[in-house]
Amino acid sequence: MSERISVLKKFSLFLPAAALVVTLGMSSYSGAKSPDHGDGHGDGGKAKSHGVHWDYTGAEGPSHWGSLSADYAACGKGTKQSPINITRAALKDLEDITFNYKKSGLNILNNGHTVQANYAPGSSIKVGGKSYDLLQFHFHGPSEHTVDGVNAPIEMHLVHKSADGALAVVGVMIISGPHNSAFDNVWAFLPHEVGSRDAGVLVDAEGLLPAKRGYTTYSGSLTTPPCTEGVTWLVLNDPVTMSAKQINAFGEIFKGNNRPVQPLNRRSLSAGSN
Ligand SMILES: [Zn+2]
Repeated sequence: MSERISVLKKFSLFLPAAALVVTLGMSSYSGAKSPDHGDGHGDGGKAKSHGVHWDYTGAEGPSHWGSLSADYAACGKGTKQSPINITRAALKDLEDITFNYKKSGLNILNNGHTVQANYAPGSSIKVGGKSYDLLQFHFHGPSEHTVDGVNAPIEMHLVHKSADGALAVVGVMIISGPHNSAFDNVWAFLPHEVGSRDAGVLVDAEGLLPAKRGYTTYSGSLTTPPCTEGVTWLVLNDPVTMSAKQINAFGEIFKGNNRPVQPLNRRSLSAGSN
């Protein structure tokens, strides 16, 4: 019917359905005390004094991360790295992710690698019989995961952590389409310079998700140094839209903060049909 729906359907068709193996690995991730560390974006880089500096281009770009520091060895030697290209596969019914999100004030920061919104405690997801608390969400442009080789303009990562330290990241593809007012209270506070500020409004992260939450899952890693493995990836099959103006607003701050796709190696994907 509407152009929006046809765009969404077209995109959804690219998405896989498959059989999967999720390995809930132990994360050696060390940033347990701070939401800043959720996806590795808080480690190293321009905004922190600790950790070896890394970047998305040049001598400190993704192909060199593994040799920049012994702490980043997994970036070069890991065999279960993220992101990956998502390909079609056989449909398999997976249990739904239960989202127990509550409204939160946001502390929005530019850490030199992304724009990240730290979320208040008390929101969580449940999947695989395990509960994971929402720590923060942040953005990559273009997307890090690809679907049949195609990037979306932006990918949102909602980073969650279980009581025993395991990470689960929900990925949401953001494609060009109608203006998405759910992001207005985040986009109004996009920080152009390194630093943080509190958004003076409450945001419900559930409003940032597509209506259908079917997903593709695999065992991967942080997509930024130290590239720690054992991360459960839950990439939603349906995208959400943003207007070109909204997409460009992020692009004015970060363009190309996406790690290239990594080899799948011996891993398998699985995806639900909804
Ligand atoms: Zn990320």
